[in-house]
Amino acid sequence: MWIDTHCHLDAPEFDADRDAVVARARAAGVAQLVLPAVEVAHFAAVRELAHAHGFAYALGIHPLYVQRAADEDLARLDAELAAQRDDPLLVAVGEIGLDHFVPGLDRERQERFYVEQLKIARRHGLPVILHVRRSADALLK
Ligand SMILES: [Zn+2]
Repeated sequence: MWIDTHCHLDAPEFDADRDAVVARARAAGVAQLVLPAVEVAHFAAVRELAHAHGFAYALGIHPLYVQRAADEDLARLDAELAAQRDDPLLVAVGEIGLDHFVPGLDRERQERFYVEQLKIARRHGLPVILHVRRSADALLK
């Protein structure tokens, strides 16, 4: 049995053949997928997609989406986690982290969102799904 621990199945790249991708994964023995969200605007779609297929999912704000996220999105994440607290398919906060690979990103804003989401995850008793690109030292610190 295989588990795909990180699949952005909600991404528009899959719009044309999402069901076929799921069918191929199942045929290959993938019994479970974890779908991490990347921004608040995707939360409902990720949750609905997970429930449609019985997949696990995570809610969070990805470091590549931090610059277009609003400060209030952290409170929206917190509220959504509270609203879905009894959902057995909600398994983590993610995808969160630090990206020091892509040029031009605001590292301070990334770090603030990362730290705040770690606090939110702890409050909700959930593990985190981390995005780490050229940022391992800063992320662990
Ligand atoms: Zn990812």
